[in-house]
Amino acid sequence: MYPDEPFTIGIDIGATKVLIGSVTQEGKVVHQQRYDIDLSSEQLLRSSIYDSIANYIDLQQVRNVSKTIGIGVFGHVDFEHGEWMGSMRLPGMDKVRFREDLQAKYGFDIAVDNDVHAATLAEMYLGKGRQYRNFLYVNVGTGIAAGIVSDGRLVRGAANYAGEIGHIFVGKDMEPCMCGSNWCLETAASGGGMIHRANRWLMDYPDSILASKIQSGTVVSVDIFRAALLGDPLAGKIHQEFIWSMGIVLVNLVNILNPEAIIMGGGVLQDEWLMKELSTFVFEHAAKVPSNALKEITLTELGPQVVGLLGASCLAWNYEAMN
Ligand SMILES: [Zn+2]
Repeated sequence: MYPDEPFTIGIDIGATKVLIGSVTQEGKVVHQQRYDIDLSSEQLLRSSIYDSIANYIDLQQVRNVSKTIGIGVFGHVDFEHGEWMGSMRLPGMDKVRFREDLQAKYGFDIAVDNDVHAATLAEMYLGKGRQYRNFLYVNVGTGIAAGIVSDGRLVRGAANYAGEIGHIFVGKDMEPCMCGSNWCLETAASGGGMIHRANRWLMDYPDSILASKIQSGTVVSVDIFRAALLGDPLAGKIHQEFIWSMGIVLVNLVNILNPEAIIMGGGVLQDEWLMKELSTFVFEHAAKVPSNALKEITLTELGPQVVGLLGASCLAWNYEAMN
């Protein structure tokens, strides 16, 4: 059942699925549909996305809908032209002209941005970010990226690449990163990076309580942190380097950007004790004035199942407000 109030169609494109939903102005998802995405070729990638959108628009009883559709997608987006430029995960792909293709076909305005910028707008309109004019949203999952809100506006930068903190240099000659460098935060503190380290360092810690999970390929970052709490030396080493590298980057962001809050999300940060450790590190090491102005480092209240759809819809609202 659709409510009488107007709603917005949001499209959340991830590496494994396309999620399309209808979102009210209060941020309630009234309908959603999940579609598979096919990354096996560029042609199939495009057709799986466009077929999903056609199915949602044709088959759902879409009425009372706002004039802009928002699309959040992983990788790099040309925000100005509404084009998906590609992703490090899909090397060599041609850009996808979402605005040109979809506007001509359906008549909607199209707003496109990367998924973390979209999630940051969800914080700004619907989450803890509503309280602040200056905050950071930091997502720590398979990769790491941030959204910067300064004086009430999302900072996009010259090429809409602002906030890609996963590739900040945190050490010399660590593991190779997808971006081509081997000094990146992401290799020490993302879920993927920590699992890679667990595999690489296991031979030095054959008695680790994580050994069987690592060998069977089922270990996840939450296992590593919980094993660290139990005193496992391999997990302890990965955990220490997580706090150190993530902490340094957050301290530097606080000193550069002077936010009132850091709101964190993503699959890696699920334990309050870990948030407390990060908080302690940042408040201890940031310069005094920005540290005093920082009110909290906190976990998002927006659920991982809906944040992509909410972000895509907020992107549409933000685009309408700007135009
Ligand atoms: Zn990198």
